[in-house]
Amino acid sequence: MDNITYHSNKISDSSRAKLMGQHGCVLWFTGLSGSGKSTVAAETEKLLFEAGIKTFLLDGDNLRFGLNSDLGFSKEDRDENIRRIAETAKLMAQAGLTVLVSAISPYEKQREKARETVSPVAAFVEIFVDAPAEVCAQRDPKGLYKKALNGEIKEFTGVSSPYEAPQYPDLHLETAKSDVYECAKAVFDYHAFLQSADGLMRVVTETAVKAGEKIIEIYNRGFSVDYKSDNSPVTEADKAADAYINGALAEKYPDFARLSEESSDDPSRLENDFCFIVDPLDGTREFVDRNGEFTVNIGLSHCGRAIAGAIYVPVTGDLYYAFTGRGAYRVCAANGYTVFSQSDRIFVSEKTEEITVMHSRSFLDEKTKELIDKNRGRISKAVPCGSSIKGCLIAAGKAESYYRFSAGTYEWDTCAMQAVAECAGGVFLQCDLTPMRYNRADTFNAKGFVVANTRENIWII
Ligand code: ADP
Repeated sequence: MDNITYHSNKISDSSRAKLMGQHGCVLWFTGLSGSGKSTVAAETEKLLFEAGIKTFLLDGDNLRFGLNSDLGFSKEDRDENIRRIAETAKLMAQAGLTVLVSAISPYEKQREKARETVSPVAAFVEIFVDAPAEVCAQRDPKGLYKKALNGEIKEFTGVSSPYEAPQYPDLHLETAKSDVYECAKAVFDYHAFLQSADGLMRVVTETAVKAGEKIIEIYNRGFSVDYKSDNSPVTEADKAADAYINGALAEKYPDFARLSEESSDDPSRLENDFCFIVDPLDGTREFVDRNGEFTVNIGLSHCGRAIAGAIYVPVTGDLYYAFTGRGAYRVCAANGYTVFSQSDRIFVSEKTEEITVMHSRSFLDEKTKELIDKNRGRISKAVPCGSSIKGCLIAAGKAESYYRFSAGTYEWDTCAMQAVAECAGGVFLQCDLTPMRYNRADTFNAKGFVVANTRENIWII
């Protein structure tokens, strides 16, 4: 790689998307042989095609005749097979196409890598095409199960080679329960939703900014402080912002559930794939202390993943927002802005030396202190800061990591921040290094979390 330079072209991804009339996207169908990947992918492509979407279907089996004809079915070859498919899908999505990939892709790690490959340029939708193994074997559309069970095919997924079912797919299709059209329509609808990101992010960012204006009004005129049962402060600003956000989101997105720090929890949200996760005033302590480090957070989760978010800093006017596959952005809201303007895009830094570590202003726990002390050699600064601003600074390349070992945060403290950090190219995990999920029955983030520009900067204690 040493003597290779990366040539940038003169046409940006966004101008290409404008000409194409769509944003590139990868719809990745994974599942056992016979689960229905090819059938549902073909039906989905038909629906998309009829709606005027420019598509291309990459079938894992077909690619084995050409691009991947040199590969077998060992673990290494299967990994290489998926790596090549992911890179190909990425290029095609970058060219502006909606790419449908139908490939068993049996390992979670492979699929996570495929997501990491595609995500910087396009949305990656992991679609679990799920049918019980007995049903797949009974269907046996290609007669493969019969052969595998007779020992004529070695390393056959589901029979003599493992299939790791996705834990948190973007879409879960049960093909033994729903017919082909219903499954394809679910993919088609989610694809349509992804294409409508501009409208959604206009609503979400404007709502965050207007809520911030209401907060500032109260900030400037003075307010009284109450304390909740857990001793955390709450003010009329929290309540006014909450009422405004609730009203605005309910009006524009009545079908999406909402979870907010300041509203009573409606358990029916657990049945909804979409849930707005809102902290109308993150950093009430900072608000009360008048140090300016508070934010309005509006996140959106889909099937447990943080897929979009807006974070507004009322005192500075900085607005950070992100949407899966479209990147993360920062604007000064007072100057006016158009969503997804390429010049506003932000990225995490590549630094692994002399890094800046952010930590909570109000809770600096022993473990974080210990970690900072232990890694002094690589840290140039440890900066206390309130609210979600910490994650935003990492997303914007101004800091590298933020650990929060102690529990004490909830989904609304992290959902928008996670979307912004991940879409900027960063990593967001729970402290046990498992993914953080949203719209859970228990909204408490019991394991803490870590945000970093790269995995290399996540130090394990
Ligand atoms: P894969 O690509 O996952 O190996 P295929 O799409 O080739 O699977 O085969 C799936 C088989 O199951 C086909 O014969 C299809 O007609 C049948 N089938 C029955 N119900 C469904 C469904 N809801 N979705 C997809 N396929 C289904």
